[in-house]
Amino acid sequence: QSKAAGRNVIRFFDPEMQALIADRVEMEEDLRNGLRNDEFFLCYQPQVDNQGRLLGAEALLRWRNPKRGMIPPSTFIPLAEDSGLIVSVGNWVMYAACKQLVLWAQQPLTSSLTLAVNVSAKQLRQMDFVDQIVEVLNVTGANPKRLKLELTESLMVNNIEDVIAKMTELKNIGVGFSIDDFGIGYSSLSYLKLLPLDQLKIDQSFVRDVLTDPNDAVIARTIIALGKSLNLQVIAEGVETLSQREFLDNYGCDAYQGYLFSKPVPADEFERDVVQTFEHF
Ligand code: C2E
Ligand code: MG
Ligand code: MG
Ligand code: MG
Repeated sequence: QSKAAGRNVIRFFDPEMQALIADRVEMEEDLRNGLRNDEFFLCYQPQVDNQGRLLGAEALLRWRNPKRGMIPPSTFIPLAEDSGLIVSVGNWVMYAACKQLVLWAQQPLTSSLTLAVNVSAKQLRQMDFVDQIVEVLNVTGANPKRLKLELTESLMVNNIEDVIAKMTELKNIGVGFSIDDFGIGYSSLSYLKLLPLDQLKIDQSFVRDVLTDPNDAVIARTIIALGKSLNLQVIAEGVETLSQREFLDNYGCDAYQGYLFSKPVPADEFERDVVQTFEHF
């Protein structure tokens, strides 16, 4: 039926395309229901300093659906972003993370840990983003100083003044900021120094081959030097081996996160196994 339409016309009844769209719509619906049905939970992955001491954790979202099983964030986060659901998902994450911080605050071994939470650019662009975070902090009673928001370089693409204003407001009440996946995005160095940041997180793609790929080694070293000159802590993610860690240590990297220390684990396992294995201040 579409023969006469030519090549540049969208064929509405392409069955493959239609199946893809139907899949997406269905997963979106499952995502929405999943939020109501308590199918989400957080896992926690330790972050350690260059002396091997536990600094805190990154909260990573997990979705277990009765019908689909475990769905990785690389599948459902982009879908949540496209559909706008990321705003409610992000709000759920913020509540869960702050409640965890309050529980940690009550135990001596965990009371000084920080918790890093991923925030998508779309969330940050919400007009009431700051109010939302402040409300979660107030309702839960979490200490803003223990909360660190991980943003990506995509936030620098537009309306940077608005981003700076929001970050500054939160920074003023003690919330920290990290740039996640640093080095793969659009960072403009002139914007970078305008943002009230605490940390740069070297993307794991540079860490993976840091020992064997000279380009990655140079990039990692440059990010560490940049962090030092901007007075920011530099953390490497995706550290899997001792040699990667030692290599980055020699460049002056401040902190690490990766399977070398632990994969992301549920809260009970984090408290039972991870916290116990580290030295404490
Ligand atoms: P990310 O924030 O860069 O998180 C790091 C990812 O690397 C996590 O994948 C983590 O499990 C994985 N990882 C940690 N250590 C290692 C390692 O040593 N080797 C390897 N190969 N991987 C390691 P995960 O949990 O699948 O999350 C993927 C991405 O999904 C995150 O990347 C983040 O962008 C997004 N995400 C996860 N949770 C949330 C959330 O609550 N909100 C938002 N907006 N995004 C989230
Ligand atoms: Mg992250
Ligand atoms: Mg990352
Ligand atoms: Mg990533």
